[in-house]
Amino acid sequence: MIYNLGSINADHVYRLARLPAPGETVAAESYSLGLGGKGANQSVAIAKSGGKVRHIGAVGGDGRWMVERLEEAGVDCTPVLQLEAASGHAIITVDAAGENAIVIHAGANRAIAEDHVKQALAEAGPGDALILQNETGLQVETARLAQEQGLFVVYSAAPFEAEAARAVLPYLSLLIVNELEAAQLCAALGITLDALEVENVLVTLGARGAVWHDLARGHEIRVPGFAVEAVDTTGAGDTYAGYLLAGLSEGLAVDEAMRVAAAAAALQVTRPGAAEAIPTGAEVAEFLA
Ligand code: ATP
Repeated sequence: MIYNLGSINADHVYRLARLPAPGETVAAESYSLGLGGKGANQSVAIAKSGGKVRHIGAVGGDGRWMVERLEEAGVDCTPVLQLEAASGHAIITVDAAGENAIVIHAGANRAIAEDHVKQALAEAGPGDALILQNETGLQVETARLAQEQGLFVVYSAAPFEAEAARAVLPYLSLLIVNELEAAQLCAALGITLDALEVENVLVTLGARGAVWHDLARGHEIRVPGFAVEAVDTTGAGDTYAGYLLAGLSEGLAVDEAMRVAAAAAALQVTRPGAAEAIPTGAEVAEFLA
């Protein structure tokens, strides 16, 4: 089982001729509401790949539809609470040139109690995995607990905050960062990537693919991306992370899991949207055939 302590957000997207200046009100030309949050995207990616994923999280009183959307994708939401709080959400404004301005509110995502996480992980053990991102509370406590219970612990360090990444690092089996996040983390710690105290680091390189650094054994695996016509790269990193972890949990070798993840992310960027653009395992298999 893959456990995901993950954010669940309502993405409110407004298209405008131009972004409002301070003090200004601008009428939107269109509005759409979708399921978002890095955690939710990663759970959807794992489920669509055919992996077993149990999401640990929370939504507010108005968030039942998001749980239903996750369940429709095949995510086990037994440990998703409905709390008396605002659901996590993002107000995304996009102008005619595609420039955006975004406000996010963590809401229920940061209102989960430690006892709830402990209970959700009570039966987890060796052979299981945990993935976390930086959009919920309790990352350090949960990673520590999962490590103690023998899980393979993965942290996708986004949205990036050096202090949050540094605090969770000792409890990880695998750190996932993009190139910019890798540089920011190394700069904040004043060390090179090789000196990070973690077993494995995966650095994603956009269209160029990704590199797996096995720091414990001192070798790296580079797997290129697939050349596709990208229309929207939102959620590419989450698709990659979800597919990679699902592949590893299934027993694929690292290079093969990376190849499948790169194919899934390549397909995802050819479609608009985030979670809804994530391909199924069958689509990925067809792409690779
Ligand atoms: P995002 O924040 O947009 O979700 P990210 O910055 O976390 O992405 P990236 O390194 O941009 O992560 O992308 C993750 C993976 O997605 C890459 O390793 C690659 O396999 C795939 N990918 C991203 N962009 C492209 C592209 N233009 N063409 C093909 N594959 C891509």
